[in-house]
Amino acid sequence: PEEKNDLYHFEKANRNNSLKDKSFNFNVMLNSLEANKQFTYRRIIVSATGRTVLVFDKELNKERKMLMFASNNYLGFANHPYIQEKIGIVLKKYGTGVGGPPLLNGYTSLMKELEERLSTLKKKEGTLIFPSGYMANLGLVSAISTKQNNFVLDKYSHASLYDGIKLNNANLITFKHNNLESLQDVLIKLESKNYKETFVCVEGVYSMDGDLAELPQIVNKCKKYGAALILDDAHGTGILGENGGGTAEYFKLEKEIDISMGTFSKVFALTGGFLSANRDLIDYIRYYSRPYVFSAALPPITIASVLAGLDLIENEPWRRKKVLENTRYTIEKLQKFELTAEPKAAIISVRVPEWINIRKANVQLDKMGVFLNAIEFPAVSQNDQRFRISISAEHTLQDIDKLVSCLEKVWQDSVKTS
Ligand code: PMP
Repeated sequence: PEEKNDLYHFEKANRNNSLKDKSFNFNVMLNSLEANKQFTYRRIIVSATGRTVLVFDKELNKERKMLMFASNNYLGFANHPYIQEKIGIVLKKYGTGVGGPPLLNGYTSLMKELEERLSTLKKKEGTLIFPSGYMANLGLVSAISTKQNNFVLDKYSHASLYDGIKLNNANLITFKHNNLESLQDVLIKLESKNYKETFVCVEGVYSMDGDLAELPQIVNKCKKYGAALILDDAHGTGILGENGGGTAEYFKLEKEIDISMGTFSKVFALTGGFLSANRDLIDYIRYYSRPYVFSAALPPITIASVLAGLDLIENEPWRRKKVLENTRYTIEKLQKFELTAEPKAAIISVRVPEWINIRKANVQLDKMGVFLNAIEFPAVSQNDQRFRISISAEHTLQDIDKLVSCLEKVWQDSVKTS
């Protein structure tokens, strides 16, 4: 796809240009893509996000219903009446915002309650709540990195961890995705250099492929080489495990995780993130994490929504069951396609071969009423383009059948034109 990717060419051609020229040229490129209808970014959404969504179609000049397969609203909380009712009550009592960070004036009784509930869910002593998952990872690194310690990341770790490490000049070493030998090689090297502390960072469910970390073996390696384990479970929390505790609960390894990270931007369909760990560490991070100290606390209505979401995770376990059943059904139906990995939660990535122009393919899907995310460079490497399907507990089997038949049609039409 290298020659098909305008962004790749844009970056190459504009490397030495001034910001003024770069931004001008970028807009020329964007306008041309939009004019040639090769573009599905920034679709205008005019309804709540559920199994379907209404978008405003500029060409038709009217609203159009689409099947939503691009949202991390895995359990269908984005438009749940119970959550909306709770928000209404809290809005009346607490108003819209707190006007400051949690250490100063943003620590509401709701936030305290949420810290306790998340600690219970993650089987940890304490929890800290951040304005986003991205900031939770940034904040974690900012609080715990020193010149003497090391962050050992699975190569496929989220940008927020990489950025946190860069921002704090922390020591970064990566290992091949989910590859235990590669992890062991890194740990042996660090041991021989006599480094003080090592943090191994993995994701529970990998966000681009939907596969799970090889957690039991990773835990063993960490124990063997004396490394601490950080688990970013953005996509497993609320879905995996008997109580929705996430990937660690699924593997019954909660106690082996030193720091559990999660976000409210997936199953909770909100914004916000959190870290759970032992109480001493959480209280230390509370005072040393720059994103925590220098950014306003989440609004009470967001906190109340997460609390309501936790009620639903407890009281409506069928949602977890349903989303996993839907995922299995989708995988079965997609047998003719190549998946990028073996999905175990609610993310399925269908590899899009090089002979398919993924952007054009997504425009065709859009016209057929299927809202899907095309993942292309620079989100993944040039030859790794894919459609990332997000499954929801709200999808019906007919929705999934429609998705698959539309993908088949796009593949067939691409054969004809390639
Ligand atoms: N970690 C992972 C694995 C993620 O997928 C994401 C979201 N894409 C984040 C962290 C950041 O979460 P948030 O959207 O809450 O900033």
